[in-house]
Amino acid sequence: MHKVAIVGRPNVGKSSLFNRLIGRREAVVADLPGVTRDVKDGLMLYENHRIVLMDTGGLWSGDEWEASIREKAEMAIEDALAVIFVLDPREGLTAADYEVADWLRRLGKPVIVVANKIDSPKHDVYLAELWGLGFGDPVGISAEHARGLDELMERVLQNL
Ligand code: GDP
Ligand code: MG
Repeated sequence: MHKVAIVGRPNVGKSSLFNRLIGRREAVVADLPGVTRDVKDGLMLYENHRIVLMDTGGLWSGDEWEASIREKAEMAIEDALAVIFVLDPREGLTAADYEVADWLRRLGKPVIVVANKIDSPKHDVYLAELWGLGFGDPVGISAEHARGLDELMERVLQNL
């Protein structure tokens, strides 16, 4: 079974993306950081591929769960063929985003950089900054409005 992990700092829309891709509202979406602490698995079917998506807790949250969330996310990534690294470039890159990027580089799995909350074409201007993370071409999506998901899945399939 192909496994793909969804990671990022809190509140960027990891669980919204997970729900959108599996087509059910299983993961809790909230404005509060730290809602997902354990890894949540969901089966997704895409062009005859069965993919297990893993929603993980918000990294570098700065709270008491930070270390255990990171440990669980790391185990998920060890199982994964690729990692979807979700960011919210409308808020700009934060220190936590750079910490996540460095951590992912050490883990060595293929990384797909995803700019979430690109709700309309006018938000495309936010994509350029994500090149600086060093993982190549970012994919702009909106989990809430279901934009960019085919382009994201094409990138995922390249890594299976
Ligand atoms: P997580 O902490 O990374 O799992 O983020 P959540 O999925 O819980 O979402 C955090 C907040 O961002 C919620 O208020 C969502 O409604 C909001 N959100 C998620 N995806 C989008 C999106 O594509 N566009 C906009 N505008 N808001 C989004
Ligand atoms: Mg979440």
